[in-house]
Amino acid sequence: MSNILVIAEVRGGTLKRSSLEAVTLAQELAGATGGKAIAVACGAGLDAAAAELAATGIAQVVAIDGPTFEHYSGDAWAAAIAEQAKAHGASGVVMTHTAMGKDLLPRVAARLEASVATDATKIVFEGGAFTVHKPVFAGKAVMTSKSRKPVFCGTVRPNNYAAASAGGAAAEIAKVAPPAGDLLAVVKEIVASSSDRTPLQEARVIVSGGRGLKEAEHFKLIEDLAAAFGPGVAAVGASRAVVDAGWRPHREQVGQTGKVVSPPLYIAVGISGAIQHLAGMRTAGTIVAINKDADAPIFKVADYGIVGDAFEVVPALTAAIAAVVASK
Ligand SMILES: Cc1cc2nc3c(=O)[nH]c(=O)nc-3n(C[C@H](O)[C@H](O)[C@H](O)COP(=O)(O)OP(=O)(O)OC[C@H]3O[C@@H](n4cnc5c(N)ncnc54)[C@H](O)[C@@H]3O)c2cc1C
Repeated sequence: MSNILVIAEVRGGTLKRSSLEAVTLAQELAGATGGKAIAVACGAGLDAAAAELAATGIAQVVAIDGPTFEHYSGDAWAAAIAEQAKAHGASGVVMTHTAMGKDLLPRVAARLEASVATDATKIVFEGGAFTVHKPVFAGKAVMTSKSRKPVFCGTVRPNNYAAASAGGAAAEIAKVAPPAGDLLAVVKEIVASSSDRTPLQEARVIVSGGRGLKEAEHFKLIEDLAAAFGPGVAAVGASRAVVDAGWRPHREQVGQTGKVVSPPLYIAVGISGAIQHLAGMRTAGTIVAINKDADAPIFKVADYGIVGDAFEVVPALTAAIAAVVASK
């Protein structure tokens, strides 16, 4: 039992980029356990996504593909995936810490009587055990824990592993029909609030605004800066102060009571850096803070700080980034 199963998410036939990060993790773990990394995906119409997974150098792809699996069903998917984990002798099951990951992986773990760790920033296999690194106390400390059960399940925070890319021989794809039986709950329809928005937790860059922007209309500065990075790269985030004020929707809130994000680049504009905000972004790769108060706590976690007025700094930064992007 040393194989590693990675659960890949497919939406509308498209493989989620963050699942390719989990593939990298699975490959690393399989290298350490001496087993194989096997990807499993659930859905309907998985051919393209399965082929993309198969091209990553993973050992095998299992596509549980059929009309009854068109929409997510926690119970049914967990049962099918747990069956695959047993059939493939998996000692580890991993996936990305997305909304689905939070719901699905603990269900799989329960069926496998496995240990479960969620929202890790690093998972390794050393000394014969899976070891998890997870930020705790609003990101002020990192807890390290070891799994003591024969099977381990874990989710990893997006943007902590490089996405696996195509290369090497294509792996075998096993197409499996979803198990028959009544689903406890059936999702009839998913209505997306907007199709062209980059999801906050998957964005490579997040530009967040706070109360320092003074009023809702001034968020245009933040949107323009995010847009300057090019389509699909950056997302807009917000502090709770501006969400509570009704300037921005809650889905954009970063922090303890919002989303926990870890993009390679996080730009905080007019945000003081309260501990509850830091809880949601301090594991970002590079943090840039723009604030007119040189003593603002955000500068303590920032890699680069600009002490200045957002209304002067942000337009200049937007123009500079747009020029760099245009020159590429
Ligand atoms: C239980 C609990 C949970 C919470 N959860 C969250 C959460 O999830 N996320 C979150 O963000 N907060 C959360 N908070 C709220 C948090 O404590 C802060 O109140 C909030 O983060 C402050 O938002 P802000 O930085 O936008 O506003 P402020 O603290 O008011 O900071 C505004 C900043 O803008 C700067 N500024 C002003 N004008 C300019 C200018 N022209 N140019 C540049 N800078 C300027 C100021 O110097 C200041 O630093 C939570 C609080 C509690 C109690």
